[in-house]
Amino acid sequence: MSDSLTLPCPHCAAANRVPAARLAETPRCGACHQPLFTGKPLALDEAGFQRHLRLSSIPLLVDFWASWCGPCRAMAPAFEAAAAELEPAMRLVKVSTEEAPALAAQLRITSIPTLALFRDGREVARQAGALPARQIVTWARSHQAR
Ligand SMILES: [Zn+2]
Repeated sequence: MSDSLTLPCPHCAAANRVPAARLAETPRCGACHQPLFTGKPLALDEAGFQRHLRLSSIPLLVDFWASWCGPCRAMAPAFEAAAAELEPAMRLVKVSTEEAPALAAQLRITSIPTLALFRDGREVARQAGALPARQIVTWARSHQAR
């Protein structure tokens, strides 16, 4: 059914089916019973990212970052604020290019921070460089529509 969404749980990674109309009603995971949205970015390794990319019906907004990158650390609070605003319309994810170097190479992440929006399993927009929270939200929403 087109109005039913698949959402991997941010806690246990179980795939959940949620009616689109109930997305805003704080849905919980059927397996671990924790909230499917926490209002905070979800840190994923390569396997976790691939699972969410493959299964998630909602867009993924990914912050590719590294601990040694000053602008990345400076943008972290803005990305967290953007998560509170953009969920549950999309899932905000953080991927460390230090912990997932093969993935970063495969996606040709050449500078960090890089924001990339994935929809239906493929990348639809990319933005290199740090942005304030308001601009992250505006940028993501401008590329969200099908
Ligand atoms: Zn769960």
